[in-house]
Amino acid sequence: MSRFFSEKYSALTPYVPGEQPKNKEYIKLNTNENPYPTSKRAVELAGEAAKHLELYPDPDCALLHGAFAERLGVKPSEVMASNGSDEILNFAFMAFCDKNTPAVFADITYGFYPVFAQIDQIPYRVIKLRDDFTLDISDYFNADGTVFIANPNAPTALALNLGQIEEIIRHNPDNVVVIDEAYVDFGAQSAVSLINKYDNLLVTQTFSKSRSMAGARLGFGIACESLIRDLLTVKYSTNPYNINSSTMAAGIGTLEDSAYTEENCKKIIETREKTKLEMKKLGFELTDSVTNFIFARHPEISGEEFYLKMKENGILIRHFSSERISDYNRITIGTPEQMDKFIEIARAITEGKI
Ligand code: PMP
Repeated sequence: MSRFFSEKYSALTPYVPGEQPKNKEYIKLNTNENPYPTSKRAVELAGEAAKHLELYPDPDCALLHGAFAERLGVKPSEVMASNGSDEILNFAFMAFCDKNTPAVFADITYGFYPVFAQIDQIPYRVIKLRDDFTLDISDYFNADGTVFIANPNAPTALALNLGQIEEIIRHNPDNVVVIDEAYVDFGAQSAVSLINKYDNLLVTQTFSKSRSMAGARLGFGIACESLIRDLLTVKYSTNPYNINSSTMAAGIGTLEDSAYTEENCKKIIETREKTKLEMKKLGFELTDSVTNFIFARHPEISGEEFYLKMKENGILIRHFSSERISDYNRITIGTPEQMDKFIEIARAITEGKI
């Protein structure tokens, strides 16, 4: 830390993104990216847009908002694009929390939530998941703060159903409830259909996972107009041009090519179910994932050892050192070939051969 670094940030612990090593070719199963390439239509439109980078992008993202709203069956004024969903989540912390309105979230969930709270100087309250990592919805009733729930949750891979989500929203009439749906397209129910019923619901989604656009950084907030207007106030006060021209065009291309997205999600779900079965045969204990990753431990191998042995053998997975989940690893679903290789190495590790 330099002697000039503001005191208000001196205790900040930054978010640690998954490794992106360039020194060696790894099978990357550590950051929940999509193993299938970006839509060709998206690449084509992004290339066209890149010919005119001398101009600022449209700060209102009119075409992109229109296309995404149409896809979801909501009004353009009920959506707002962001630079990855991380940005819209941060905007939500800024817009809907303050020293009297803490953020409220689970002890095991997306690791960025406490970091947003810290950088935005917002107090937060952590609620423990049950021992089996399920969430007791009644813990969130009348939360007395802004609720953040990843649904499905990461890294546990478990989801609440829409009825449970609605109960949480209904029991928080005076609190904003943010449902982070980064992984919703892999088998969970979206809460988007509730945005017109509840003025306290914000849903966030991303193009990083199901839509193969992690490198372009595109996310969305979906909510009633008044919440979106608040988020726009924050955006226009921080970064009006938050979506660059190529990303905007790629987003439109991906939405035009929605059959491709659906086909890839289907393939990932099939590969996930097959991988779950294979892992169970090897003695792994797993949560019943509805995401593009598996959360697993083995009774005879520590989480860290499994992670390190995988890495030595060319496969990157994600290990978390925090106490309750240090026995576990999070394994992104890759192509069938990548997962065959993963199972082959997992078998060798569990049989003590490597
Ligand atoms: N929410 C959750 C639960 C995530 O795991 C991630 C990915 N790290 C994000 C949000 C943010 O993703 P992105 O900024 O790429 O949209």
